[in-house]
Amino acid sequence: MPELPEVAAHAERLSAGFSGTPLARFEPMHPAVLKTFDPRPAAAAGKALKEVGHRGKYLLLRFGESDGGHGASDLTFVVHLMQAGRLRPDTKLARKPRGGMARWTFDDGPALLLTEAGTERRAAVWLLADQPATAEPLARLGPDADSISRDELARRLAAASERVHGFLRDQSHLAGIGRLLANEILHTAKVSPFANTARLDGASVDRLHAAITTSIARGLDAERERADMGRSTDRPNDVHHRVGQPCPECDDTVRAVEYRRYRVAYCPRCQTGGKVLADNTTSRFLK
Ligand SMILES: [Zn+2]
Repeated sequence: MPELPEVAAHAERLSAGFSGTPLARFEPMHPAVLKTFDPRPAAAAGKALKEVGHRGKYLLLRFGESDGGHGASDLTFVVHLMQAGRLRPDTKLARKPRGGMARWTFDDGPALLLTEAGTERRAAVWLLADQPATAEPLARLGPDADSISRDELARRLAAASERVHGFLRDQSHLAGIGRLLANEILHTAKVSPFANTARLDGASVDRLHAAITTSIARGLDAERERADMGRSTDRPNDVHHRVGQPCPECDDTVRAVEYRRYRVAYCPRCQTGGKVLADNTTSRFLK
């Protein structure tokens, strides 16, 4: 799944390519893709794309009168790509594009096409008026991971009391971190993925906060070099795609605990005092 660096870099690309262009129409291509019914998408027709921004892993396509600031009549399309969704310029304008979920057609130019590979069809679009930040799906998000302060992070860690790997991926704690970044952040911070958030000492919180910042910046730098959103294997990583290989930091072997929907990849020497973590949450119960 694209995480904050991929989504942020993609928002920059789309902004550069489409800002200022008036929307001709928005066309849902799958019955479940549009999660809101008021306002109607037709209300956005004729408004210009002011910018494409992001909030956590969500892309925000903000339309309004081209007067610069946030106008009362602004409408924001919120797009979540989920696992396999992509939002790309579309010059073919095929009637039934492969994997098509929704299309924004602009006056005098190409369209933007939301597609989703595979059969899950979970990519989603919301159309929000007024203050999008206070409406679902954005209202439940914690602060963006690249802007959270050290003290706010410490407060949220202490209040949570759960495994730090799960904490980092929970978008209500902080927004934008997914499976790859959680592994990279914890490796960089030299914190065990299974450490309890409420028991981290101040030095660990310091390292964790610094690692969140550097890991996101590293991902963003790499993603800005690309012409389109890459795949997970294209992203810079020291542990996530290196299970069984030597740790770049210490040469110990990178190990993993596998879950159904994600993988905890870590280096024992760097993160757990050499201890190999047992998969003690799923394997015991799935048999
Ligand atoms: Zn290591």
